[in-house]
Amino acid sequence: MRTLTLLPFALSIAVASGACARQETSTIQAATKALGPTEVRSIEYSGTGKWFQFGQAPSPTLPWPAFDVSNFTASINYETPAARVQMVRIQVVEPGRARPAPVQQSPVQVVSGTYAWNMAPPPGAAPDTAPAPQPQVEAVEERTMEIWTTPHGFLKAAAANNATSQPANGGSEVSFTAGGNHRYVGRINAQSQLERVQTWIDNTVLGDTPVEITYSDYRDFGGVMFPARIVRTQGGHPVLDITVSKVTANPAVEIAVPDAVRNFTPPAVNVEMEKLADGVYYVKGGSHHSIAIDQRDHIVVVEAPQNEARSVAVIAKVKETIPNKPIRYLINTHAHFDHSGGLRTYVDEGATIVTHALNKPYYEQAWAAPRTINPDKLARSNKSATFETFTDKHVLTDGRRTIEVHQIAGSGHNDAFAMVYLPTEKILIEVDAYAPPAGNAPPPAVPSPFAVNLYENIQRLKLDVRQIAALHGPRVATMADLRAFIGQRSQTN
Ligand SMILES: [Zn+2]
Repeated sequence: MRTLTLLPFALSIAVASGACARQETSTIQAATKALGPTEVRSIEYSGTGKWFQFGQAPSPTLPWPAFDVSNFTASINYETPAARVQMVRIQVVEPGRARPAPVQQSPVQVVSGTYAWNMAPPPGAAPDTAPAPQPQVEAVEERTMEIWTTPHGFLKAAAANNATSQPANGGSEVSFTAGGNHRYVGRINAQSQLERVQTWIDNTVLGDTPVEITYSDYRDFGGVMFPARIVRTQGGHPVLDITVSKVTANPAVEIAVPDAVRNFTPPAVNVEMEKLADGVYYVKGGSHHSIAIDQRDHIVVVEAPQNEARSVAVIAKVKETIPNKPIRYLINTHAHFDHSGGLRTYVDEGATIVTHALNKPYYEQAWAAPRTINPDKLARSNKSATFETFTDKHVLTDGRRTIEVHQIAGSGHNDAFAMVYLPTEKILIEVDAYAPPAGNAPPPAVPSPFAVNLYENIQRLKLDVRQIAALHGPRVATMADLRAFIGQRSQTN
């Protein structure tokens, strides 16, 4: 678990010194004055627009997928500091892309000091269960960034952190470092309005990830000047595009850290091995599984999900179960960040990454980015990645066991999407196309197009499947389970 040094930043705001040089001070004072005469200690703004799901692009060549936002409300207390963002959103189904019918989501995301949490039903509970605080340790960095990149927040943080400034485009560029090693750069125009903020936050795939927020169409919202349009990009694509309709200066924003969040200790990464066949292990224990395959003189692992901490724990457990062999290949199903965030650890380990051809240039570009905020093992070893790619099919063999990697063609989930088939054991490994429901849960009323497409791919390739080892979900499934899930009663295949 990484340590975030945000508290000193918060404190430094409270004891803002007059350390800025005269020019910086006057630039920041003029920009603060341009926001209106009211001293803003807290703010609430709301509007409508779009939100985009970072890290879940349907293809490595496409932007993050869009959701329509019918309500966005951010409530920020700059003094504590704390923020609550509430949204009502529903996914936009792109023309020509078969997705499950979108379901409206109403996330509530909170940060206070060094604590972050969501208000949501507990994981695995029925959706109508009462919301309760769900700790989100990994979200502190991003949500803190969201506070100090708002117009008032940026100017307060600039004043408190010895900002420097230089002339730019008839205005000035103001920059400072805060919260440990987070750099913020703001562009203030000739009218003394903050029109853009750039910063960088850590990401498992993208490293130091650029975040850019543009503010335009400043208007007088009852005595406080605030941008009527806010666009935020992250990793080069939009994550938020909001038209602001209401702003309240100095509302009461009292956000107490719930005991369940304050006393939460993230559990150690749990890895459990379940033998599926001779030399084939289901690597479980968390929300995202892997598969380890014991080849004659090496190991093949399928999937490196989540992050380096999970990869380190999985690698240790795999090597304990299959001793004295190197992990030579890591097969990656697709580039969604929750399924590719642990890949770099396997590159550091010396494994070749097997992935769809579209993903290779994407990973190469992403992994070339600087990693100064949270250097991982690969950033320190500086090894270069090797890839084996395919478009339709790729085969790995040790002379005894064959491992087939097939494209899942035509899936709405992802355009560079793979599943793995072991012909001797008749095991299919897949993720995000079909997750077997727990227990005797009934199949969905409307079959998921992702699961229907998986079934069609299995039929097209004439794969003789006995076990489906899904990398999400509680258990191994059968073809009968998959057929029932998509509402097919036929017993052929
Ligand atoms: Zn996915």
